[in-house]
Amino acid sequence: MFGNILAEIKKMRTTMKFIGREELKARHGELGGEPIFRMVEAERVHTNFLCVIPASAILILVEVCGMIWAVVNKIKFDYCKGFIVSCLSFTAVAVIFVCFIERKLKDTDFSLTQKKTTYIVFWAVYCLESMSFSIMELLDRGTVNNYLCFIFLFTVLPVIEPLPRTAVLVVTFLTETAVMIKSGSYNPDVMLICFVAFLIASVASYATFFRYMSTKITEKSLEHFANGDHLTMLTNRRGFASLGPELKKYCENKSLNLLVIMADIDNFKAYNDSYGHIEGDICLKNVAARIRENFSRSTDICARYGGEEFLVMSAIRDDEKILEHIRTLLDDVETSYDKNGGVTMSVGVCISDTPSKYSLNELIKIADDELYNAKANGKNCFSYKGRVYKK
Ligand code: GH3
Ligand code: MG
Ligand code: MG
Repeated sequence: MFGNILAEIKKMRTTMKFIGREELKARHGELGGEPIFRMVEAERVHTNFLCVIPASAILILVEVCGMIWAVVNKIKFDYCKGFIVSCLSFTAVAVIFVCFIERKLKDTDFSLTQKKTTYIVFWAVYCLESMSFSIMELLDRGTVNNYLCFIFLFTVLPVIEPLPRTAVLVVTFLTETAVMIKSGSYNPDVMLICFVAFLIASVASYATFFRYMSTKITEKSLEHFANGDHLTMLTNRRGFASLGPELKKYCENKSLNLLVIMADIDNFKAYNDSYGHIEGDICLKNVAARIRENFSRSTDICARYGGEEFLVMSAIRDDEKILEHIRTLLDDVETSYDKNGGVTMSVGVCISDTPSKYSLNELIKIADDELYNAKANGKNCFSYKGRVYKK
C-alpha cells in the first residue's frame, strides 16, 4: 500500500518534470520542444478563453437562483439590495463578454495575447465581484455560500497556471478570514469549512493543471511528429492533407483569395554532388526557415512537398503585395546561405479569387505548371499567370 503511494508520487513527479519549456526542449531538441510547447500553450489559452462562456452562464444561473431564493425566504432588504445590484452588474459584464467573444471568435486574427487578456480581465472582474458579494453575505448572515461557489468555479473551470491560481485562493481565503475576525462574526465551523474548501481547491487545481498539461503534451507531441517533417520541421504531406482543405474552406468562408505556391530549389542535385548530402541537408533547412519566416502567420501553411520541393498556402487580400513578398523570399533564399556560392529557388504561383470553383489538387497543378514555366525560363525567378518575374 505504502509502496503503491510512493510509486504514484514518483510517477507524478516524472509527469511534472516534462511540463516546462526547458524539459520539452531537452527531450525533443530546439525544433521539437519549442513548437510543441507553443502548441500546448496556444491550446491552453484557447481553452481558458472558451471557459469564459460556460463560466458566465453558470454564474448567471447561480446568481438568479440565489436571487429567487433570497426573495422567497424574505432575506433582509439591505443584503438583498446589494445582492441584486451585484448580480445585475455582473450579469451585464458577463453578457458583454459573451457577445464580444462571440464576435471575436469568428475572427481568427484574434491573437493569443488578446485571448489571454480577455480571460484574465474576465476572471479579475469575477474575483472582485465574487469577493465583495461574499463579504456582503458574511457580514449580513455569517455564512459563506458565495465564497464556496467562487472557489468551486474558479478551480474547476479554467486551466490557469497553479501559481497565480493559488495566489488568488490564498488572498481570498485570508480576506475572508480577516473580515470574519474584524466583524466579530468569527465562527470556527465556518472558518473550518473555508479552510477545507481552500485546501481541496488548491490540490485539485494543481492536479487538474498537471493532468491537462501532460495529456496535451502527449497529444501535441504525437501531432507534431506525425504531421511534421523531421529535417525541416515544416508540415509534411500528411499534415498538409488535413490543413490544406481547412485553409481553402477558410478562404471560401471569408471571401479571401487563396495563394498556392510551389517552390523548388535550383540545381540541387548538382549541389549535393558538389558539397555532399550533409551540406545539402543544412541547405534544405535554411531554405525551409526562410520560407517559414516569410509566411509566418498562424493561418499560413508551409509544407515540404517532396525532396527539395515546398508548398505554401496562404489566405491573402492583396495580389500585388504578395508578388513583392515572393520576390523578397527569393532574395532571402539567395542571400542568406552563401557558404557554398549561393542557392537559388524557382517558384510557381497560383492565386485564386474563387477557390470554391477549384479542387485543391487543381490549384496545386496550376502552381506546378507555373513552376515548370519558371524553370524553363532560366530558374531563380517566379511565374504567375504564365508571366515570368525575374528578381
Ligand atoms: P532543378 O533545378 O531542375 O530543380 O534541378 P534539381 O537538381 O534541383 O532537381 P532534381 O529533381 O534532379 O534533383 C533533386 C535533388 O534533391 C535530388 C536529391 O539528391 C536531392 N534531395 C532530395 N531530398 C533530399 C534530402 O532530404 N537531402 C538532401 N541532401 N538532398 C535531397
Ligand atoms: Mg530542384
Ligand atoms: Mg524537384
